[in-house]
Amino acid sequence: MAIEMWKLRDISKHEPPDEEQLDEIARHSRVLEDAQPEEIIAWAVEQFSDKLTMATAFGPEGCLILSMIAKIAPGMYVFNLDTGYQFEETLRTRERIAEKYGILVDYQRHELTVREFERLHEGPLHQIDSGLCCRERKLKVLHRVAADYSAWMSGIRRDQSPHRANTPIVGWDKKFKLVKISPLANWTKEQVWKRIVDDKVPYNPLHDQGYPSVGCRPCTRAVAQGEDERAGRWSGSRKTECGLHTED
Ligand code: SF4
Repeated sequence: MAIEMWKLRDISKHEPPDEEQLDEIARHSRVLEDAQPEEIIAWAVEQFSDKLTMATAFGPEGCLILSMIAKIAPGMYVFNLDTGYQFEETLRTRERIAEKYGILVDYQRHELTVREFERLHEGPLHQIDSGLCCRERKLKVLHRVAADYSAWMSGIRRDQSPHRANTPIVGWDKKFKLVKISPLANWTKEQVWKRIVDDKVPYNPLHDQGYPSVGCRPCTRAVAQGEDERAGRWSGSRKTECGLHTED
């Protein structure tokens, strides 16, 4: 489909978008509702060029988007928020993506190692205050990266959770002061996996071992048949999101 190009890259990080600019972002999003993810990524590259980045935790959606970026914009800066608590399987997925597509996802880390961090907090902070742990080891790091960009892409989908049900294809992320693009927002889990299988996209092997959603090792468990796909994240607590994809 032909997508008319209006430019969003002039939106300033220092002056949040006004009503007219927010309307323009929403208009782009509506037009892109019927586009394929590859068209959305190409549109984002056209809009933001080297001011566009992507964060991935190597979930199925992220791996799929990386396979598309490899064809559309292989030089794009892509990063992983490496908390220091990720599964070995997740880290090896990064290597397999690099081997297949030539994209070595960069690690972005907190200034303190896990050992220094746990010494500072007198133990594993995720056991005492998982909210603060995520804010420190994920959000703070993303804020640092975001300062150099105008837009970021993520792999979130509307049907992953009630929190994500209203995810636009393109929106203004006021937390990180970036335009946020979610090329798979209106795809289903089935669509994502069909494409992964069809295109032989490398994915985290933990998905075949009962982990539909993989985060940090201490905060992720396998789920039972019929459980929600995010039930294994921060299981036993009221926390359902790390805060990267929520407004507050
Ligand atoms: Fe810390 Fe768990 Fe959040 Fe990872 S998911 S940053 S270990 S609280």
